[in-house]
Amino acid sequence: MLRIGLVMLQGARHSHISALERASSETGIGIEIHELRKASDLESSEPHAIVMPGGESTTMRLTGNDAISSLLPAVFEWIRADQMRPVLGTCAGAILLAEPGDGGGPLVDASVERNGFGSQAESFQAEIDAIALDREFPGVFIRAPRFADIGDDAQVVARLGDEAVGVMTRNRMALTFHPELSQDSGFHEWLLETTAKQWVEA
Ligand code: GLN
Repeated sequence: MLRIGLVMLQGARHSHISALERASSETGIGIEIHELRKASDLESSEPHAIVMPGGESTTMRLTGNDAISSLLPAVFEWIRADQMRPVLGTCAGAILLAEPGDGGGPLVDASVERNGFGSQAESFQAEIDAIALDREFPGVFIRAPRFADIGDDAQVVARLGDEAVGVMTRNRMALTFHPELSQDSGFHEWLLETTAKQWVEA
């Protein structure tokens, strides 16, 4: 049974729960989802992988760094402890991976521009090329960030036309769209399969 930690700071997290459950039945990989609100939740649940949902990154930084929660520093410490730990960050979660803002350097090798698609196209849906899944994928973009620079240590895992909308550095994947809001649980299946390989078969 894999333990998946879901960062519950703000924003739509419940759709990640359904996407993870669908991914679990698709792959046959059993999971337990642990909702993380405080640093102590991370310690007690000892997750094998973490999902960082979207929301508003400024709000998430505030709530995640307050003295009662202290969840964000604990999550960053958990990720930094082993560069192979599987992490899926979507939208604002991708912003936090690219710019953790804790003085410790980026967790994926890319920089982002917040709300990079501007106000005319604040939110839209488009078929993207999900390179990591080897198929098209329905991309749901909501006030999405845009990757500015992508470094050598990041691999592009999703494209909208010519533009990268997903990158991965080792087992840390940052997507600027919301895979949990589509019916296709492919990226969540990627997380479960990667986690199973990382922890169970290793
Ligand atoms: N615009 C948000 C931010 O800058 C991200 C939006 C989202 O997660 N849907 O944090």
